[in-house]
Amino acid sequence: MTSRCAPRGEPARHDFRGSGRLSFASRLRRVNIPRVPTRLGQLEGRVTVADGAWSTALRERGIPAGVPAEVACLTHPQAVEQLARDYVAAGARVLTTNTFAANRLAWAHWGRDDWRQVNEAAVGLARRAAGKGVLVAGSIGPSGKLVAVREAPESELAAAFAEQARTLEAGGADLVVLETFTELAEARLALRAVLEAVALPVVVSLSFSTGPQRTQTLMGAEAGACAATLEQDGADAAGCNCGAGIEHALPTVVALRANTRLPLWVKPSVGLPDLHAGRAVYSQTPDSFAAHAPRLVEAGANVIGGCCGAGPDHIRRLATLVQPERRPASRGGR
Ligand SMILES: [Zn+2]
Repeated sequence: MTSRCAPRGEPARHDFRGSGRLSFASRLRRVNIPRVPTRLGQLEGRVTVADGAWSTALRERGIPAGVPAEVACLTHPQAVEQLARDYVAAGARVLTTNTFAANRLAWAHWGRDDWRQVNEAAVGLARRAAGKGVLVAGSIGPSGKLVAVREAPESELAAAFAEQARTLEAGGADLVVLETFTELAEARLALRAVLEAVALPVVVSLSFSTGPQRTQTLMGAEAGACAATLEQDGADAAGCNCGAGIEHALPTVVALRANTRLPLWVKPSVGLPDLHAGRAVYSQTPDSFAAHAPRLVEAGANVIGGCCGAGPDHIRRLATLVQPERRPASRGGR
C-alpha cells in the first residue's frame, strides 16, 4: 500500500474524455486493465495513445545536432510546437514535454545553465498544442549520475529532480513522467523527490533492454521487481520506454503487469538504429511498429506511444489500431 493515498481520485486539472474503446474490444477481455483508484484515473480501464519521440523527431525535421534537442524549445519554438500539434493530430492524447535532459545535473554536462527557461518554454508550447482533452506530461530524464557509486550526493540529485518538477508544475503540466531510467535506485530517489516537491501524479518509466528476454535495465534491475517497488513507493503509474525496440517489449509489459495494478505507461523505441554517415536512422515503418501495439495492450498497457525513432506517422498508425475512433477529425468525420 502506498502512503500517498489521500490525493488519489482528485479531479484532473483538464477534463479528459477519451472514449477508450478498442477496435478489437470484442476479442479483448479487458481483465488485465486494472481499475484501481489512483490519481491518474482518466488513464485507467482504457487505452490512451501517447506521443512519440522528441529528440529523434526534431533532428529529422532539421533541428541541428551539437546541442541538446531540448534547447529547440528556446531556439526553434515553432518547430517544437508543430511537432506537438502533429502528435495530437495523429491521435495522441498524452503529450510529453521536450525537457528530458533539462535538469540541472544532466544540463551541466553540456555546460549550460538555462535548464529552467527550457522547461518553462517547453511546457508552455506543449500546453498550447494540447488544447482541451490532451494531458501534458512533464518529462524528466536521469541525472547522468550513478546512485550506486555515489557519483553525486543524493541530496543534490533530489534537489535537481525536485526543481525541474516544480518548474513543470508551475508551467501547467498535468503530470510528471520520470522516463528512460536504467538505475532503479535513481528512479526511486527521483520519485521520492518529485512526490515531495509537487502535487502532480508521477509516472515512473524505466528502460529495459538487457537479459535473456530484454526485461532488465542496463543496471540489471528486473521489470517485475521494479513495478512492485515503484507501486510501494507511491508511483501513480509504472512503465517502460525506449529499450531494445517495440518487437522486444512484450515480455517486459507482461512482467510489469504481473507485479502491479497501477496503470502501465508503455513507449517503446522503433527498434535499434542503423548508423548512416554518423547519423542514427530508424528504419522500422509505421505499419511494422504499430503492428506490435495490440499485443502490448492485451498484455496490460494503458498508455501506449513511442520513443526513439517514433514520429507522428508511427503514432497515427498506432492510434488507428488501438483507438480507431481517435483518428484525426478530417479522417474520422467527427
Ligand atoms: Zn528513446
